[in-house]
Amino acid sequence: MATLETDSPKPPKSPTPATLPETPAAVLRHDWTVAEVKALYELPLLDLVYRAQTVHRAVWKDNKVQLCSLLSIKTGGCPEDCAYCPQAARYDTGVKAEKLMQVDAVLADAQKARAAGATRFCMGAAWREVKDGPQFDSVLEMVRGVKALGMEACCTLGMLSESQARRLKAAGLDAYNHNLDTGESHYGDIISTRTYQDRLRTLGFVRDAGIEVCSGGIIGLGETVEQRCEMLVTLANQPKHPESVPVNALVAVEGTPLEQQRQVDFTEMVRMIATARIVMPASMVRLSAGRLQMSEEAQLLCMMAGANSLFFGEKLLTTANPEFGSDMALLEKAGVKPLEPAVDKPVAQ
Ligand code: SF4
Repeated sequence: MATLETDSPKPPKSPTPATLPETPAAVLRHDWTVAEVKALYELPLLDLVYRAQTVHRAVWKDNKVQLCSLLSIKTGGCPEDCAYCPQAARYDTGVKAEKLMQVDAVLADAQKARAAGATRFCMGAAWREVKDGPQFDSVLEMVRGVKALGMEACCTLGMLSESQARRLKAAGLDAYNHNLDTGESHYGDIISTRTYQDRLRTLGFVRDAGIEVCSGGIIGLGETVEQRCEMLVTLANQPKHPESVPVNALVAVEGTPLEQQRQVDFTEMVRMIATARIVMPASMVRLSAGRLQMSEEAQLLCMMAGANSLFFGEKLLTTANPEFGSDMALLEKAGVKPLEPAVDKPVAQ
């Protein structure tokens, strides 16, 4: 278990970059303000990366990177209206609605991912919410099957009830992904079919069931820097920091309302990751969507800034996957060590 200097002096409220105190080591706080987090975000880039790396090394001494694999177990046809998402039924993006995959097919993919080095297998379904019945029962079977392979199991299935969270926990689920997506003040511009409070309620059920919370967001949705920082503050000021914080860059898809959105600059990803690392020192920070648009140098800078997990897309699970080969080559030439399956349990707070 990582040790944190929880008794380190707290920085003053609302500092400016010029008055930000030195960060002696990782400090677990749940009282961040947007002004404080924005002051960190806006530090000169290399100063910010230096601070983030200092915090990172204080907690994550072995400096390993977890490889996660993501499989869409139920693609498309989603009734929600998330403006960035090609799986929303209402947008004409060419994504066809599919049925929930069979349990055997999912477990075969999980085995391939494990053989490729993934230690965490995430299963995503394009649902607004989970409905009790045969489909949820199949998902529970998938979770049990992934655990039997010695992998961490993660799901993202939309909103959950309290009892569904408990059933997932009983099946062995390690983590549940439910992103806040963006800052609360920008949320209504991106999604109208559910509220921020709906998101937070599901996160509460997940946490109370004893499942690790995986929650982060997407940058490049037209939000301001304040709204990015607002999202980090909401995450950090939860009763417990999420064990995992995915940071995504929008991949603008034709047919979605955000199709014309400009691609975020890599420095924005580095800033977001570094700031997340400082405000949530013991969380796994996951460099997620948008990585294929980044150079190798930019990805390494993200790792320097505190990203300690990489998300592979489902393409990992096909035999011909050049991205997977280049990912492994990058880690190898940089000497970045991946977490061993079922040996190195990531350290959380
Ligand atoms: S709930 Fe998930 S699958 Fe559905 S539209 Fe939103 S992001 Fe896409």
